[in-house]
Amino acid sequence: MKDSAAAIASGDYTRKVEVHGEDEVAALGRALNALGNDLSAFVDKTERTEKIRRDFVANVSHELRTPITIIRGYNEAISDGTITDKEMIQRYRALINEETIRLERMIRELLNISRFQASDELTTGIEPLPLAEIVRNVTEKLMVKSVKRHVTLVIHADENIAVVGNGDQLVQLIMILGDNALKYSPDNGTISFTAVRQEDGSVLLSVADQGPGIPEEDLPFIWERFYKVDKSHCRNVPGTGLGLAIAKEIIRVHGAKAQVFSTPGVGTRFEVTFPKEKVVLC
Ligand code: ADP
Repeated sequence: MKDSAAAIASGDYTRKVEVHGEDEVAALGRALNALGNDLSAFVDKTERTEKIRRDFVANVSHELRTPITIIRGYNEAISDGTITDKEMIQRYRALINEETIRLERMIRELLNISRFQASDELTTGIEPLPLAEIVRNVTEKLMVKSVKRHVTLVIHADENIAVVGNGDQLVQLIMILGDNALKYSPDNGTISFTAVRQEDGSVLLSVADQGPGIPEEDLPFIWERFYKVDKSHCRNVPGTGLGLAIAKEIIRVHGAKAQVFSTPGVGTRFEVTFPKEKVVLC
């Protein structure tokens, strides 16, 4: 046991004590083994968290640098006279503008996420929110884009349910899911929104599309900041990879749970379940 304790102290958690019997010495041996296991799990978790933090810093640097490099390149080409054609100058200016907007959006979304992460639960603007009405408002905003691509938005929502939460955040959540569904929907496709009370009193909010789906191996990672499924079908779809990371935080502070069901080639359904305690009937 002395050897095992020394090994643990020096960071080797694999050394176990052989335990026989049920007396105090055996109990101490078991406690020592349990301590080794707990410490090993703790160190693994810390290392994983540290890796996520390091990856995040690297990702932020990369993601922010890309638009800056583009802006700088186009700007130099205009300023030093490399480009003289009026139409080209116009095109470069438009691209600079696009990248500036992207950069601004990314910074806003990053700030948004870190603000959420600082709190465990909602503290401001909490009230019962009529879910059907919120879903309708969001779909009206999406309509501008969906009409152009002949994508039909269908709503199936119970009128008499409200969810206790923050209105701006719930709008943002449904917008993120709806906007993604629209981005990945084929032309002439259908997106279904539901907001219904379930038998156990909880409320299910879902957004389903008929898009390309998400491969199973990517599903655990889509909620990570900057994660994008790098497949040819969505390479040209714009996005910062931050939408679902914000959605995850909104879902968390509302005490809700999320699930994703996706079949490649068939479509994707995001489900958010609000617990019974957050539901008000009106
Ligand atoms: P983005 O801003 O790139 O859309 P998100 O965090 O919202 O970032 O989504 C992460 C990734 O998950 C997307 O890049 C995309 O690959 C995948 N994804 C999200 N929603 C859908 C969907 N409805 N259909 C297919 N893929 C999706």
